[in-house]
Amino acid sequence: MDHLRLEAEIGGYRAADQKLEALEATYEDLATMLVCAADEVALLDSSTRAWAQAFYALAFQPGDRILTARAEYASNYLAYLHVAERTGAVIDVVPDDETGQLSVAALESMIDERVRLVSVTHVPSNGGLVNPAEEIGQVTAAAGIPFLLDACQSAGQMVLDVDRLGVDMLAGNGRKWLRGPRGTGFLYVRRSLCERLHPPMIDLHSAEWVEPERYELCAGARRFEMWESSVACRLGLGRAVRYALELGMDTIETAVTTRAEAVREGLAGVEGVTVRDLGRRRCGIVSFTIDGHSGADVQERLARAGVTVTTGRASSTLLDMSRRQLPSVVRASPHYFNDDGDLDRLVTGVEDVSGGRL
Ligand SMILES: *Cc1c(COP(=O)(O)O)cnc(C)c1O
Repeated sequence: MDHLRLEAEIGGYRAADQKLEALEATYEDLATMLVCAADEVALLDSSTRAWAQAFYALAFQPGDRILTARAEYASNYLAYLHVAERTGAVIDVVPDDETGQLSVAALESMIDERVRLVSVTHVPSNGGLVNPAEEIGQVTAAAGIPFLLDACQSAGQMVLDVDRLGVDMLAGNGRKWLRGPRGTGFLYVRRSLCERLHPPMIDLHSAEWVEPERYELCAGARRFEMWESSVACRLGLGRAVRYALELGMDTIETAVTTRAEAVREGLAGVEGVTVRDLGRRRCGIVSFTIDGHSGADVQERLARAGVTVTTGRASSTLLDMSRRQLPSVVRASPHYFNDDGDLDRLVTGVEDVSGGRL
């Protein structure tokens, strides 16, 4: 907000000139958070945009296979469908194991020379599942296949280390667990892959027009950016990342998962309530349903009691939701700033909705 005021007072260019260092620090702090180099980070205006810049940079041929998971996010799957339609690439969904996470054994058995990309959502938008990114990364590294991870719901709530995860490309945003401003996203691209990728669109920021008939792409991940951006939002994203780093990502992860477990325990004892979280490892998202109530209805009733939850609709994670025959789930995302009183109010509110008192 200070920066927007400064832009109003002295103009956008001069205001940005005064913040060059802080803007660079945003890249560096994201690199610290992801354990990569600052030139492997690009700033975009959303996670979807960041993800798409990487995905659409890959050249698919007819018959190329894209392997993904059941809990895939709608915008990603729509892009697979879009590209499959245009190129003749094929989408193959890796089945879940008995816990509901992507089956690493099934993934391994599906790898062949036609697999061009493994693309998975780390934490889906509709539940506490954490897909086994590290094990997936081991499979893709051994096979020499690029691995794209949608880390939108994991960034800011858990430790992310791109080498340990074995990812080649990773997208996230500022507005979710990082608690930053809307309109911010970031993309990590491994240096060795980046130099071989051509962004789906370029401008005078991502490339230089060096001769009338020739351009040169800029070095590093910034080739995936375009020139214009909200400086205020980028500064806000940097501040949010720094704030998380100061608290410590491992401290945040423990605080978040402990609270989510407490909520699950509380909800498990409420009649008419089913906790819907899948997977071996569970994170800070708690998903549940109440018999006889739609997600939107629960969301509205809980809001009356001062409890903020959101609704996961089937169309956001269609493969998973239709397989489980769930039209919607309620999603609670306790963060480190929620205290025991907040968690109690949530569980009591759910009891009241289920018991017909709210
Ligand atoms: C919210 C979400 C996105 C989209 O993030 P934007 O920054 O709004 O584009 C992508 N993937 C998952 C899993 C999400 O939950």
